[in-house]
Amino acid sequence: MVVASGPPSAGNRFDRRPEPEYEDWYVRNQRGAAMAKVSPFHTDSEEYPMAHREVYHDNDACYEGKEIFPEHRQGGTGGKPLCEVCAGLS
Ligand SMILES: [Zn+2]
Repeated sequence: MVVASGPPSAGNRFDRRPEPEYEDWYVRNQRGAAMAKVSPFHTDSEEYPMAHREVYHDNDACYEGKEIFPEHRQGGTGGKPLCEVCAGLS
């Protein structure tokens, strides 16, 4: 009789899924609420004019921030100044 000793199969149980949609979901959840503060985001995508790439946004009500598609958004300030529209909304 052979006792097979393999690795424990507990791997799947602790499989943590990343949540790439979290910020998008958060922003969507805030829709309808005026002046909704969101996590800072910015874009480095060259699809946007320089003025859009030089600043970061932190308000869902910002029309300039809204023009940045969720897939082009990067979390954080990127070391950039706060967008003037967001600054006015804050
Ligand atoms: Zn903004």
